[in-house]
Amino acid sequence: METLDAPANLPQPSNFIKNIVNEDLKMNKNDGRVHTRFPPEPNGYLHIGHAKSICLNFGLANEYGGLCNLRFDDTNPSKEEVEFVESIQQDVKWLGFDWGDRMFYASDYFEELYQFAVKLIKAGKAYVCDLSPQEMKEYRGTLTEPGKESPYRSRSVEENLDLFERMRKGEFPNGSRVLRAKIDMASPNLNMRDPVLYRIMRATHHRTGDKWCIYPMYDYAHPLSDALEGITHSICTLEFEDHRPLYDWVIDNCMQDSHLESRPQQIEFARLNLTNTVMSKRKLRELVEEGYVKGWDDPRMPTISGLRRRGYTPEAIRDFCDRIGVAKSNSTVDIALLEHCIREDLNSKAPRVMAVLRPLKVVITNYSENLVEEMEAENNPENPEMGTRKIPFSRVIYIEQEDFMENPPKKYFRLAPGQEVRLKHAYVIKCEEVIKDEKTGEVIELRCTYDPTTKSGADTSGRKVKGTLHWVSAANALKAEVRLYEHLLLEDDAEEDEENTDWKAKLNPNSLVTLNNCLVEPSLVGAAPGSRYQFMRQGYFCVDPDSTEGKLVFNRIVGLRDSWSKIEKA
Ligand code: ATP
Ligand code: MG
Repeated sequence: METLDAPANLPQPSNFIKNIVNEDLKMNKNDGRVHTRFPPEPNGYLHIGHAKSICLNFGLANEYGGLCNLRFDDTNPSKEEVEFVESIQQDVKWLGFDWGDRMFYASDYFEELYQFAVKLIKAGKAYVCDLSPQEMKEYRGTLTEPGKESPYRSRSVEENLDLFERMRKGEFPNGSRVLRAKIDMASPNLNMRDPVLYRIMRATHHRTGDKWCIYPMYDYAHPLSDALEGITHSICTLEFEDHRPLYDWVIDNCMQDSHLESRPQQIEFARLNLTNTVMSKRKLRELVEEGYVKGWDDPRMPTISGLRRRGYTPEAIRDFCDRIGVAKSNSTVDIALLEHCIREDLNSKAPRVMAVLRPLKVVITNYSENLVEEMEAENNPENPEMGTRKIPFSRVIYIEQEDFMENPPKKYFRLAPGQEVRLKHAYVIKCEEVIKDEKTGEVIELRCTYDPTTKSGADTSGRKVKGTLHWVSAANALKAEVRLYEHLLLEDDAEEDEENTDWKAKLNPNSLVTLNNCLVEPSLVGAAPGSRYQFMRQGYFCVDPDSTEGKLVFNRIVGLRDSWSKIEKA
């Protein structure tokens, strides 16, 4: 196994977890190994919060020349599915991380976990309890009052061994008995008041089928899985801080005479919360199951698959996870930072193209009917290596409806009656006449003239025109559907709202606006799903897999206006 040889080569600590790892390495703890794991429960799709954990766990392993396992924490068969197992693997890979040959399942250890439980019973450290869930709750006590010992706590080892075996054999109904650790009903830490280790539940497991009807609890299975895999640093979110004594208890009492390669240490960090974003898996599932979104990969979802479909790159997500850092207290990150990261990534990567989302017809009356000129256009001014392309220009073009005003205010530099603008990569035009629908009064066409001496790159007019508009040639443009997205929530989803059933009242009714009559320049013909572009003056867009041969479909990844830069400067 690869390790770093000299402490002098240790990565510069930039967060408290690296400080801990550096200290451990200096003390040669775990023989200088760093081994982490990412342990998703396969009960939903991964989201941007999971990305933070993935980047942290795989990132630490990469940085320290260590290893990171992918482990499915599949101890609750009632909510888990193969679909989720597959999507999780796809998403971790897409983010750019590799678990090598170390993909594991907690269910791989069910037999070993059972044997550890038998050992606990034999040592008088676990017992079968027949209290009903309601009674258990009453016996548990509160933060200010100690709990009461269960009347079953004093069962003999023999009776416990017999009952536990019969629990496994399926002799008792679901929920009728549990196996509990015998720790301390008066502990100030509620997690230490004889926590449940096993419950009876008849549910078909996606891997073990109907082999088991008792399943280990997370707090029991997790530390043992970590120890069995030789994990050194078991990183989890803050809500598990109070579980750490139990984590240690389970390892100490089950594995005291196993020769462990290392003793895993649980370290807690703050989970990611994002403004205007739902992050709870339960709520995301509700959105999918109740049809508020089109699926787990709906581009409005904060899932990795949703972000991917929307057009986010793995680089932008990793950059975001880097920038938010790792802290010990919870906070909410402004979603504008995530949007900033994708803009930064695409700025030099995405070709600039012209697309008109809400078209307004413009006829250039002094341009000859049959002429089509090929105008030279740079693909990305930030990145000259991306070259140039030709864009056809002709007598009838379309511009954006919002780029024309009949009665403009002062300093309006777009098109208005009698006013001039430059068409990007083409000519200066002047608006001579406005044609309206007779019935509705709506502006349906502009009649303009162009000045042949103003051709871009060969302008001999010496004219200064303030506004520059994007446009497409009517005869050559491709039809497109464009889906504009806004945040799914109008307000933040406060964490204490977890139980709140009314959170859907905050759903943004305009989170999706579909424009069906958009036009894009012909160079986009055959653009493959997943291709990303900057539509000039509009934002970044990504081709959606719903595209057909006759009609491209685009998702707006993000607009051009960067509210994060403003926040940063303020
Ligand atoms: P559940 O309530 O279903 O357990 P979960 O969000 O904890 O939901 P897991 O599949 O158990 O989901 O999470 C896998 C790993 O990702 C865990 O280590 C967890 O701590 C981490 N994780 C989950 N949500 C976030 C988040 N918002 N920020 C950072 N890490 C997260
Ligand atoms: Mg969890």
